[in-house]
Amino acid sequence: MKIIMLGAPGAGKGTQAKQIADHYSIPHISTGDIFRANIKQGTDLGKKAKEYMDKGQLVPDELTCDLVMDRISQDDAKDGFVLDGFPRTIPQAEALEKALDAAGQKMDFAIDVDVPDDNIIGRMSGRRACLNCGATYHIVSIPPKTEGICDRCGEKLVQREDDKEETVKNRLNVYHEQTQPLIDFYQKRDILRTVDGTRSMEEVFSAIQAILGA
Ligand code: AMP
Repeated sequence: MKIIMLGAPGAGKGTQAKQIADHYSIPHISTGDIFRANIKQGTDLGKKAKEYMDKGQLVPDELTCDLVMDRISQDDAKDGFVLDGFPRTIPQAEALEKALDAAGQKMDFAIDVDVPDDNIIGRMSGRRACLNCGATYHIVSIPPKTEGICDRCGEKLVQREDDKEETVKNRLNVYHEQTQPLIDFYQKRDILRTVDGTRSMEEVFSAIQAILGA
């Protein structure tokens, strides 16, 4: 099963993508995670990506597309995958479609986790991340067992630069301008499904399971 997660930054699509990946035993491919891993390792890609990410802008398509095409052609992705944070622009969606087409494949579902802008800002400002192992928390809805400390590896939790309010507002603008047109793109291909992302994590996941089956 090949799934795309759509939705504004902070809509909870990452959390849902992880659950889908676990439940259906397919890899979770998050471009944001790949960029952050590159930043941590100090690679050239990481250095370039950071300049855009810190400002809430999108990393250029030419740095993003090849990386995803390479990842989905790996062995563990041959029975399916869940894409989280990609595509984010029409050219990215077209590149994905072209690559799958060449392999005689297509995406099965694009799931839009729908949350109004008003909710997003509150959610993002409470987000905390572990820069060591990548775990994410929320001070209200998913608090760590000990305040400010990662449950998984014991490192200190931080607010990511791109979760700060000014950056969040930029990211929402970028989302409306560049990513929202994808809703139309996948609607036309008849694979768009929308879930109400304002409900609890469990309810959102049940709605997704009802769409994907089993
Ligand atoms: P995320 O963790 O998915 O919210 O991504 C964090 C940041 O990484 C975004 O704000 C972008 O700067 C960058 N990014 C992630 N995925 C993409 C993509 N598909 N295209 C361009 N930039 C991306």
